[in-house]
Amino acid sequence: MNRVRCLVLNAALGPLDYRVPEGMTVEPGSVVACPLGPRTILGVVWEAERLPGTEVPADKLRPLREILPVPPLTAPLRRLIEWTADYYCAPLAAVARMALSSGGALKGPATTTEYRLSGGLPERLTPQRQTAIEALEHEQATIRELAGIAGVSEGVLRGLVNQGVLEPVEVDCDRPYPEARADFPAPNLGADQQAAADRLCEAVRVESFAPFLLDGVTGSGKTETYFEPVAEALRMGRQVLVLLPEIALTEAFLKRFEDRFGAAPVLWHSSLKSTERRRAWRAVAAGTAQVVVGARSALFLPFAKLGLIVVDEAHEVSFKQDDGVRYNARDVAVMRARFEGVPAILASATPALESLAMAEAGTYEKIDLPARFGGAELPAIATIDLTKEKPGRGAWLAEPLVAALEDRLAKGEQSLLFLNRRGYAPLTLCRNCGFRFQCPNCSAWLVEHRFSSRLACHHCGHETAVPEKCPECGEPDCLVACGPGVERIADEVAERLPEARVFVATSDTLNSPGRAAEFVAMVEGGAVDVIVGTQLVTKGFHFPELTLVGVVDADLGLEGGDLRAAERTYQQIAQVAGRAGRGAKPGEVLIQTRHPDAPVIAALAEGDRDAFYEAETEARRFAGAPPFGRWAAIIVSAEEDSDARDAANRIGRAKPDHPNLAIYGPAPAPLSLLRGRYRYRLLINAKRSAALQDIIRGWLGPLDHPTGVRVGIDIDPYSFV
Ligand code: ADP
Ligand code: ZN
Repeated sequence: MNRVRCLVLNAALGPLDYRVPEGMTVEPGSVVACPLGPRTILGVVWEAERLPGTEVPADKLRPLREILPVPPLTAPLRRLIEWTADYYCAPLAAVARMALSSGGALKGPATTTEYRLSGGLPERLTPQRQTAIEALEHEQATIRELAGIAGVSEGVLRGLVNQGVLEPVEVDCDRPYPEARADFPAPNLGADQQAAADRLCEAVRVESFAPFLLDGVTGSGKTETYFEPVAEALRMGRQVLVLLPEIALTEAFLKRFEDRFGAAPVLWHSSLKSTERRRAWRAVAAGTAQVVVGARSALFLPFAKLGLIVVDEAHEVSFKQDDGVRYNARDVAVMRARFEGVPAILASATPALESLAMAEAGTYEKIDLPARFGGAELPAIATIDLTKEKPGRGAWLAEPLVAALEDRLAKGEQSLLFLNRRGYAPLTLCRNCGFRFQCPNCSAWLVEHRFSSRLACHHCGHETAVPEKCPECGEPDCLVACGPGVERIADEVAERLPEARVFVATSDTLNSPGRAAEFVAMVEGGAVDVIVGTQLVTKGFHFPELTLVGVVDADLGLEGGDLRAAERTYQQIAQVAGRAGRGAKPGEVLIQTRHPDAPVIAALAEGDRDAFYEAETEARRFAGAPPFGRWAAIIVSAEEDSDARDAANRIGRAKPDHPNLAIYGPAPAPLSLLRGRYRYRLLINAKRSAALQDIIRGWLGPLDHPTGVRVGIDIDPYSFV
């Protein structure tokens, strides 16, 4: 083969053909440097018959520059890239880029110089040096990374290097990870756990595609159970991928992993340092990374000999990526398992309706863990009707909830109040002139954060200090906070229960693995009486002394008309309720609501999951929503409102007339301005039989738009803003 077709990593270009120079051998999957004009671009050699391109005469072909020192992308990974691009209507190059997500890894073996404290002291201890020395204890990293950790400039650290306070260490970038041992002491599984584990281990041994739904109530020990098939894969010398929804989960998870396997797993998430990324990527490709625990992007890692994929908390909305390639990691995980010919385990206490439907249809094998491990009871759930039990003015906690909090405090037990709203108040306005603080880049209110005295946009990150007077009318002391966020609830708790030690747990306060670990240690050590938290605390945590969960506003998630609002509310409340009574003491859950009779709330209060899923199934059937029909969204955006509107109208005028398709819009998106871009949406509801992606490609493909207009396609959307 002296001519090859390459998928080049530029979404604007199609596949390109190259000549393979004398002495170079490539195969499908080889990662290569391709000449493009005067530049070099990264490419992957692909099977020409799978990648239609234009035939270039042989004498016009340019030679490949070099083959990069990494193993070729395997056939299953190439099929996954093709499938993802096709299903989500994304450019192949954009998907392939997710598989080649560590530039450093592609450069081959390397060593690097890292630095650590030598124990010596500088001649002159400036405040900055002091800060650095305190912050860098136990750290070893490059100067740049250390500067980030210590929050000082690189110059300060170079000064410390010159004085010998920081000493250099040569490290092999690819040093191996500690070995995970399958036969490190395993816990004694309960009977249900054992039966589930046996079935899953058997599937791992069979070495072929088998999707499972591990449906276990909160506290049933799903993790301990799926660790056994993980161990089985390790015994067979195969690699395992465990997908987790959020980094906050990993601290607690890592400890359990180490207890079971005697070593930490290989981590993969967006905040890895570039040296950690390259090391992980190369170990995955070499087959030496045994278990990778990662966020959704770990799905596209180049595993050499994958034996099992686990998706924990598989119902989680955060598995859906909402920019770039808009994919759902839960679904792509099952496809990867299929291409690799290995089992996939989706674990959840509140599976997505789609997953349950797959199980009912027999496509997924369902394995149940119906009881909590160790005989703990599921908590008792009751509602508080806010139309009858009205909290006082400027208060949000009804008396029965306050009484329950007092009761726990008196008994030395812990409580958790759940409200999915960061900050102090979601809206700030001027009492004098009615001015409302709005984000300049988004159609959204600025949220007051009292801990940091800032007004912040939760969409784009825009922040300003809280002003002393109204920027509109100039009146001092006239700003009022409207509505509660977790910080405000914490204030209310402090007022009503002055002795209680309150901890606000959100992505603002638990913003690093270290802070999350501190939080867990404080709660476990009994240093916290009441946790006030957002969805971050609804899952993963296991606090035996936590016996009361209060849901501050169960109706919040039901507002806004999102198609999945009911399901999400059910999942969130069932998950947070699952934090109560996990130890020896029974748990209680109090749900504040203005609609105690709404089907979701009633099903929660009665602990009747089936009733909820049945009602929701009927609603979905009626709406032609998944799994009965499909949705897709087209999002058009531009910096100029008129550009976005014109493009959306152009798309609207060209909309296909198809019997299996209903197309709504274009209309301004609910978030009509986001990060400085005006947005319009079209929504497509399709029958299952419609070739949705082909229709969309045929519709949008021929349309041209001015530069600066972006047209995004969202297949199976989760977000409707
Ligand atoms: P789930 O994820 O199903 O909510 P977890 O996996 O968090 O449940 O398990 C609940 C608790 O019970 C955890 O602290 C876990 O370590 C413990 N546990 C579960 N199974 C076992 C077992 N077989 N032996 C010992 N502890 C277990
Ligand atoms: Zn904003």
